[in-house]
Amino acid sequence: MGPGGPVRVLREVAAALGDLAVPLVCGGCGRPDTFWCPVCAARLRDAPRVLAPRVEVDAPAWALGRYDGPIRAAVLALKEHGRRDLAQAFGEGLADALMTLAQWGDLPIGRRLAVIPAPTKRSAARRRGGDPVTAVATVAAGLLGPRTTVLPLLATANLTQDSAGLGAGARASNLAGAIELTRSPPAAATAADTVVVLVDDVLTTGATAAASVRRLARAGVGVDTVVVLAGA
Ligand SMILES: [Zn+2]
Repeated sequence: MGPGGPVRVLREVAAALGDLAVPLVCGGCGRPDTFWCPVCAARLRDAPRVLAPRVEVDAPAWALGRYDGPIRAAVLALKEHGRRDLAQAFGEGLADALMTLAQWGDLPIGRRLAVIPAPTKRSAARRRGGDPVTAVATVAAGLLGPRTTVLPLLATANLTQDSAGLGAGARASNLAGAIELTRSPPAAATAADTVVVLVDDVLTTGATAAASVRRLARAGVGVDTVVVLAGA
């Protein structure tokens, strides 16, 4: 065994395999030799933007950034192209945004913070090795401390009709019937002194957020704020 011993060799093999599998480039702008460059990081650290969804959502909605350019590329890389490393970058952005909203008075201060990922199709999430929004929420919760919990309470039924091609209204009612609870909400979600944030990757019409907020309300969970990674 050469210098450094077996651990070092294993690390080198793992690094070489990693290099083969995914060339290391910024998930936002494609700059080489970094998974997330300082320019894209600065863009994500910009103040959260308030959104005006077409479908009425019974809670204010905010985005970490605009759904265009490097942020859009990074969201797609995270969601569609297996760049799970970007969950770290977005998780840091989400934690920043929640702290900023609290400072602005746009997020109530509670004894606990419950972060609820928007629903994914269960089978789709499994195929991709776990839901990326839950991964982002988990990174943020780790940074925000022990009073923050991630509660994956929502799933969409697999029988959901494909909503592509439907108008915003039809899409909303299609979704409303399709969102289900994965379990009864724990006390951490229903307590009066818990602040509840619904998190999703992208907000376009707001239909998913609106249906999720309504479904949670029916189960006694009042969503205080919706935060998405990127919004129009
Ligand atoms: Zn970049």
